[in-house]
Amino acid sequence: MIREFVKSFQPYKVVEGNYRIWLDKNENPYDLPGWVKEEIFEELKDLSFNRYPHITSMPVREAIADFYGLSPENVAVGNGGDELISYLVWLFEGEQVVTTPPSFGMYNFYAKLNGIPVVEVPLLEDFTIDGHAIAERSKNARVIFIASPNNPTGNLQPEEEIIKVLETGRPVVLDEAYAEFAGKSLWRLIEEYPNLIVLRTFSKAFSLAGVRTGYLLANEEVVDALYRVKSPFSVGVMTMAAVKVVLRHHELVERRVAKIIEERERIRKAFREFTYPSDANFLLMRLNAYEFLLEKGIVVRKLSGRLDGHIRVTVGRKWENRELIEALREFLEVRGCG
Ligand code: PMP
Repeated sequence: MIREFVKSFQPYKVVEGNYRIWLDKNENPYDLPGWVKEEIFEELKDLSFNRYPHITSMPVREAIADFYGLSPENVAVGNGGDELISYLVWLFEGEQVVTTPPSFGMYNFYAKLNGIPVVEVPLLEDFTIDGHAIAERSKNARVIFIASPNNPTGNLQPEEEIIKVLETGRPVVLDEAYAEFAGKSLWRLIEEYPNLIVLRTFSKAFSLAGVRTGYLLANEEVVDALYRVKSPFSVGVMTMAAVKVVLRHHELVERRVAKIIEERERIRKAFREFTYPSDANFLLMRLNAYEFLLEKGIVVRKLSGRLDGHIRVTVGRKWENRELIEALREFLEVRGCG
């Protein structure tokens, strides 16, 4: 009954168990404080739960547009950035989806799901993109995905290389899911490059992974096209209320981002030899320590392919990072490298 094509997809791997410390999904380790949740609950009281949400999510697009000083016509929101990626692979003319592995898996996932060929232009040795190589191979691309900071390598991509890709005129999705931790974003370039789509999310710096909201900033024409084909009611009234409230407390988000950056650098310093520099809320480590950490009750992400023998570790709360550092020190001692 089920198509072979569907069976060719792996089921989602759910890591379940009595683990103490979860550093595997690049989440924000800090939940919203109670007083911010109370504000959200207050907003919820006045909402009509029996009615569908606004069909093009205008209330929350306006709030995001105000935050950036843009027009709501430059903003689209989705049920997580993932939902937006699912549309971005088939919105534009052209043939292939271009990706730069090792990078975020959902670009390839949605391309495959839609039967779209993928051209892979690997990252260079230092995990930066080769703008010239991407441009060369994107002549007939329908869309090019570049993550900056990149997941799972953590590095920002050089602006001049991104510009080389933008100059092709082909649609470029610059995935800035972790931009707040880098303190740098190229969103302002949407005014100069109508082919630039900047993808952002509330899942990371804003602590709203469970609420599910991603958004993109782009030219009006792209946003208009997206809303012609997007699932009509995928962003619910509760989600929109939560986002609006959190946007009012940006200073809280900034303080937490600063804390996470400080902790990130503390972990990196402890294992400088095995850890790549990061502009995100996670670290790529050249340590084959996945199973060892799991036994200690710490869940991280095990990587494969070109990053075989590496782990990706989300920066957690201070005590979690302390335990991680202790466990990794022990791992190195056991291996005789300590
Ligand atoms: N882009 C990148 C690079 C990511 O790592 C993630 C989340 N892991 C997303 C986009 C999507 O996040 P969300 O769907 O939670 O908005």
